[in-house]
Amino acid sequence: MPIFTPGRRWQPPFMPFKREPPTRRLLVSAEIIIKGPLWGCRMCGNCLLQETAFICPMECPKGLRNGPCGGSTPESCYVDKTRPCIWYKVYERSFNMGRQEKLMEVLPPLDWEKVGSETWGDVAGQVKKMGTGNVVKGLVSPKKRYQTWEGIFRPVRQPDWWQGDSEYHEPKYKEPVSELERRLKAGEFVVACEITPPLSVSTNKLTSNIDLVKQYVTAINFTDNASATPRMTSWACSKFAIERGAEPVMQIAARDRTRAGLQGEILGASALGVRNVLCVTGDSAVLAPQPRGRMDINDLDAVQMLWILRRMRDDGRYLDGREIKFPPRYFLGAAASPFASDPKFQAMREHKKVNAGAQFFQTNLVYDIERMEIWLNELAKRNILGKVYIMIGITPLKSLKMARYMTEVPGVWVPEPILKRMEDADGAGNAQEEGVQIALELARKIKKYEKQGIHGLHIMPVGWEDIVPRIVTESGLLPESFVPSQQLKK
Ligand code: SF4
Repeated sequence: MPIFTPGRRWQPPFMPFKREPPTRRLLVSAEIIIKGPLWGCRMCGNCLLQETAFICPMECPKGLRNGPCGGSTPESCYVDKTRPCIWYKVYERSFNMGRQEKLMEVLPPLDWEKVGSETWGDVAGQVKKMGTGNVVKGLVSPKKRYQTWEGIFRPVRQPDWWQGDSEYHEPKYKEPVSELERRLKAGEFVVACEITPPLSVSTNKLTSNIDLVKQYVTAINFTDNASATPRMTSWACSKFAIERGAEPVMQIAARDRTRAGLQGEILGASALGVRNVLCVTGDSAVLAPQPRGRMDINDLDAVQMLWILRRMRDDGRYLDGREIKFPPRYFLGAAASPFASDPKFQAMREHKKVNAGAQFFQTNLVYDIERMEIWLNELAKRNILGKVYIMIGITPLKSLKMARYMTEVPGVWVPEPILKRMEDADGAGNAQEEGVQIALELARKIKKYEKQGIHGLHIMPVGWEDIVPRIVTESGLLPESFVPSQQLKK
């Protein structure tokens, strides 16, 4: 185990793509020899140690560079249960060292041109640029020390093509771009629901589900290869929804995207009329059917996706700086995870997403309102409740087996009293109805937080789409636009 990174093992370094001159090769060897045993350095060539309390984040099996995923727990990483979540360790140590606000800076994806090479040469180059004498004087002076330090390291970690920061960036448009955004801005308590995309090219079930729920909800989410298992793409399902008069939320998972793929796909989706986009990091391929693809590195994470997509929309620029003559338009969302890690850590992660560009959150499943409130209070302390719309995720439990399974899902917490109710109901042969009653109670309780930063409900029926109309109707959440089907036929 490396000395300063409390990870499990020393993973092999990334290999350089090109042959460097002898001086740089010497530096590479020195960095491997020194930073390897100390930090478990993998030679990513884009060092973040100062931002991450001197723990190498590349220990993360997903290669995340902007914080933990929604499945992290204090106990272990869900991808590899034999090691701790390295981001949990980073947050813990950052708080202990008083360096937590450093975690708020939106950090760039890897520049693969540098991967496998060292970072020290870049630092030395920057010192030379600033003047070695000026650097020495600056570092000696307590007043100029921080500024000088930042002058050296900021250009190294924030290249010109990225320029990430820790600030909130208000969207540069005023009129809502989607019906979901319009209703949220108007103060309506909205309901969205998820429809599982088909496993084949047959769209009969997909279209019948869209027709079934579209009157009852404001928007319909289409997942993007949930559990890293291939299904019909989210943009194609979104297109079917638009054709049937429903409003889609296109989910897009960083796991399956390169930076080029993301930008191309978003232009296509926007041209097709998709106006709500939900950025998620995506479940690890460890949950996927075998054989698994590469699991240790994502080209992008959800925070970086939000940063890229916000700038494409608001600044009309590709990541590489080229101008987009007709920029895409969308309402940008992200996933939030009230029960992953510690609510204080999680609130920082949500704050970072809001700064990067998230305008709405759809949360992971909530079965515990008291714990949800703790998370909400942490968001309030960070002063972000007025900057993002929050829709709380619920899933009706169809059986005791499902309730038990939910306790294993990363980022989901099912409290004991709910499990007990499902056990008792199962004994009486009534588990399905009990699951619906629990969902209705949760929906009504969540609605009570309307004035405290919650703006809607996000129903994830996991294939049980038929139940959505009943939950929406019986919990009193029918949208203002609802037209009974008898009237629709007239
Ligand atoms: S962030 Fe990159 S360069 Fe820095 S220690 Fe980790 S792998 Fe090495």
